[in-house]
Amino acid sequence: MHTWTTVSGTKVIRLNNFRCSCYFIVKGNNAVLVDTSIRAERSIIERAMKKNGIKKPSAVVLTHNHFDHAGNAEFFRRKYKCDVLIHEKDYEGLRKGYTYLPDGMAQPFRRAVGFINSRRIILPFQKFPPCPGAVPVSDGVTLEKYGINARIISTPGHTDGSVSIIVDNEIALVGDCMVRSVNGEIFPPFAEHPDEVAGSWIRLVNTGCRLFLPAHGKENSSEHVRKKIKKQLDTIRHGKSK
Ligand SMILES: [Zn+2]
Repeated sequence: MHTWTTVSGTKVIRLNNFRCSCYFIVKGNNAVLVDTSIRAERSIIERAMKKNGIKKPSAVVLTHNHFDHAGNAEFFRRKYKCDVLIHEKDYEGLRKGYTYLPDGMAQPFRRAVGFINSRRIILPFQKFPPCPGAVPVSDGVTLEKYGINARIISTPGHTDGSVSIIVDNEIALVGDCMVRSVNGEIFPPFAEHPDEVAGSWIRLVNTGCRLFLPAHGKENSSEHVRKKIKKQLDTIRHGKSK
């Protein structure tokens, strides 16, 4: 686990999940869980709750409706009777417990996903327990009623309804809007709308946050994201859109 603390004392804890980094945002007795990983990693989240003295999450926020983020949403909603929030544009998939596969950015993923989607094949991992009781939200909703100074902003590209959670205007939990791969790249390997990704990065750096915590890979500093925005815009300008 890794913990960051904002100037006003909100803690952001990254849990030890492998498939998708889940986070707890904690202030006093309130804790909001961001993303839920897959069923096999449920115990990692519950163990982390015990270790950090968290009795129940006051809410669960899903950064988007992918199976490796939404796999335990219904479990937490039922067991802890907490709200599950998802952007309204990703709600439909969560209601059905189904992940649409976004296009791959590079071969061989691009070809494989194209084949699967064109034949309407549903792979077993695309399905997860449906969560029709989730609350669809839109841009700008705050987590104030759950005791946390944070707001949800729309950062589309990876999926239509991808969101980031801005904590104390210092730390952003960005889901798969950006990643951090070993070579320092931050572009997600899959995206429904690749041309919207850089716009979301710009929106994120404009919040003034100093750290961007993705669901896959280590944290990105705002300097690093700024460099990648410049590179991405240069690539688009020279006609080699990613
Ligand atoms: Zn994803």
